Amino acid sequence: MTQTENKSVAQDTPLVPMEKIVSLCKRRGFVYPNSEIYGGVAGIYDFGPLGVELRNNIRRYWWWSMVQTQDNVVGIEGAIITHPRVWEASGHVENFVDRLVDCKNCKRRFRLDHLPPENAERRKCPVCGGELTEPRTFNLLMETYLGVVEGDKMKTYLRGEACQNIYLDYENVLKSWPLYWLCRERSQSCRQWMPSHSCQPRTVWYSISKACLA
Ligand SMILES: [Zn+2]
Repeated sequence: MTQTENKSVAQDTPLVPMEKIVSLCKRRGFVYPNSEIYGGVAGIYDFGPLGVELRNNIRRYWWWSMVQTQDNVVGIEGAIITHPRVWEASGHVENFVDRLVDCKNCKRRFRLDHLPPENAERRKCPVCGGELTEPRTFNLLMETYLGVVEGDKMKTYLRGEACQNIYLDYENVLKSWPLYWLCRERSQSCRQWMPSHSCQPRTVWYSISKACLA
């Protein structure tokens, strides 16, 4: 088949709607909408019997190929919560933010830095031409609190990056494994996903808000 014919076949193939793919994955036991009997939580899914096996296989293979078969690599798995000063020192508290605007007419939400310059300047919706609200700052870190006594709780964040604990544990790893060259980490990170974010769960349904990263 020539390149032209290939292109033509690709163009003629209708795109499968995401709803159909999600529905098939649910029937086959790969993913289920989270809390579905209570109406579900938009964009959040649980892994079903086959989905969790698939994820575990990928994790196992990654760990085997990246850590266990390498003489100079050790692995760690960091906790999901770290001291809040970690995120202040890394600049996430101050800079890990999106500036968002809403259209008063069609109710769509946009990241200010994704709008065409003339729309951002005139506060004009790029879809319907409606008026946009003042920009509001939205931090992508997910807040949580440590402690049980009200008024005495410490605000902290679920980790926004998977790699942070490699730096935090660097000295400990070096002391306990002095011959290692490289440290890999497998763990989870949490971010609040926003419309127009590069990887928001409503469009990337297989991404759970608590993404497993390495
Ligand atoms: Zn609009």
